[in-house]
Amino acid sequence: MITIGKTAVKTWRSNLPTELSVRCAGCRKHRFLAIGTWQQHGPMRYAHASCPGCQESSFFVVTGFVNSNELFGGGTLYMDPSVPQREASAELSSAMDAMPELQRDYLSTVDFFNDDDPASLVLTARRLLEGLAKHFVNPASYKNNLATDLGTLAKERNLAPTIERLSTTIRKAGNTGAHFGASRVTTEIAVSAMQMVEQLLTLHLLLDFRVTSLQTLIEEAHAKPIPGILVGPP
Ligand SMILES: [Zn+2]
Repeated sequence: MITIGKTAVKTWRSNLPTELSVRCAGCRKHRFLAIGTWQQHGPMRYAHASCPGCQESSFFVVTGFVNSNELFGGGTLYMDPSVPQREASAELSSAMDAMPELQRDYLSTVDFFNDDDPASLVLTARRLLEGLAKHFVNPASYKNNLATDLGTLAKERNLAPTIERLSTTIRKAGNTGAHFGASRVTTEIAVSAMQMVEQLLTLHLLLDFRVTSLQTLIEEAHAKPIPGILVGPP
């Protein structure tokens, strides 16, 4: 069950939606769902809608409907079943506050993911790389050729020292526990250390495997070309 905001509502009657633009759990596509009659049960309103594409039935409920002069009667609209939505990382997004183009492309990739629009997603992901190269490659070495600039980016932004600092810091967190007793290790240190451990393990154990898996999928896609997606060499 997910919460549906007022921006998804296309038409209203008595502050209850009569048409919604939502993603159907049956076909995972964005659909306009016409809501049937809203039933009333105390401060709850409930209704059904059928997907015009796959006919899957969705159930809608408004809880806390108390004031009919407010949207949703001041309550909250939920939909069930629902497709889990991918959330943009707030930490990553705020790190891009000073790079609005990069941030917009990152947020767009999440939107395209949720909209089940893979072709737009991969094109935006590629543009995200162009943005990264433009921002971080030294202007003197920038060639405006993505393959070349990505090589330069990797060389100029050598992450090996950061990974070494990551390992060293986890080691030192361990020393705090071993040398000074558990009382010195705060929850804040533990939570942060846990996140760092997962990042380090991902780098060492998973990243290369994940890249290889994606490469395999791309090669399979090229063996069976789909018009409109990935024009030119990978
Ligand atoms: Zn559907």
